[in-house]
Amino acid sequence: MPVSQMPPVFRFAPSPNGLLHLGHAYSALLNEKMAKDAGGKLLLRIEDVDRQRSRPEFEAGIIDDLNWLGIKFDERPHRQSDHVISYENALNQMIGAGIAYPSTISRSQIAALAVKNVNWPRDPDGALTPPAFEENAGQADGPVAIRLNMAAAIGACKTPPVWHENGQIVSFDANHWGDVVLKSKDGSYAYHLAVVVDDADQGITNVVRGRDLYAATSIHRVLQTLLSLPAPEYFHHDLILDEAGEKLAKSKHSPTLKTLRSQGLSPIQLRNQLGFNA
Ligand code: GLU
Repeated sequence: MPVSQMPPVFRFAPSPNGLLHLGHAYSALLNEKMAKDAGGKLLLRIEDVDRQRSRPEFEAGIIDDLNWLGIKFDERPHRQSDHVISYENALNQMIGAGIAYPSTISRSQIAALAVKNVNWPRDPDGALTPPAFEENAGQADGPVAIRLNMAAAIGACKTPPVWHENGQIVSFDANHWGDVVLKSKDGSYAYHLAVVVDDADQGITNVVRGRDLYAATSIHRVLQTLLSLPAPEYFHHDLILDEAGEKLAKSKHSPTLKTLRSQGLSPIQLRNQLGFNA
């Protein structure tokens, strides 16, 4: 079948570092609806690449909640911890091309430098990122992080990468983020690297996820360009916030689906509450 006639492929990609909240349920249901409306497929990816924070019991809880919600996925779940070799290959490709490097600078060293500059770059999680590559390429005794040399990476893309957001073209300068981590000292591959490799491996054509990841898409597009991976269409939906205006997944007060279920909420009620017809 020509690529243009292939059915679109959507995915829901929770991280098993906690249980699902209403915000996750909204994202999963929106993916389900968009996939159905487009005659496409819906895949599940368990984003457990962060070794420190992922727990098998959260993965089991997430799958139980999704079954309870009645969401059907077209293939077996893709678990990131089963695909580490793919991230390693992608990272080695970038190290070989001279655009990823072992970073010896410590967080406290970066913080000390950043004190003098309020506009110091931070990655999408808010962590300070180091200055120019040359100043950060010493020898280290212990394990080191691998970072993207962002300036070189953008230079290696023939044209600055843009992305397609719900029919619009978005440009966002990824230089803003500085030299983001691709593999941390503890051996975990970074979300940004894993997500682009997995979206390509799973043939994802449409990424539908929360607005909190909107700006980070610029990093994903740089990585996709460097690794010659296809660019999906993006749609970043509004977040469901609590009364204090805080993102639900991060909010201390937001009930998990497990709690709501134990209080007697039905899947149909939940779908209706979130604006989806059952
Ligand atoms: N794993 C991320 C989360 O749970 C979602 C990443 C994505 O959809 O690209 O927030």
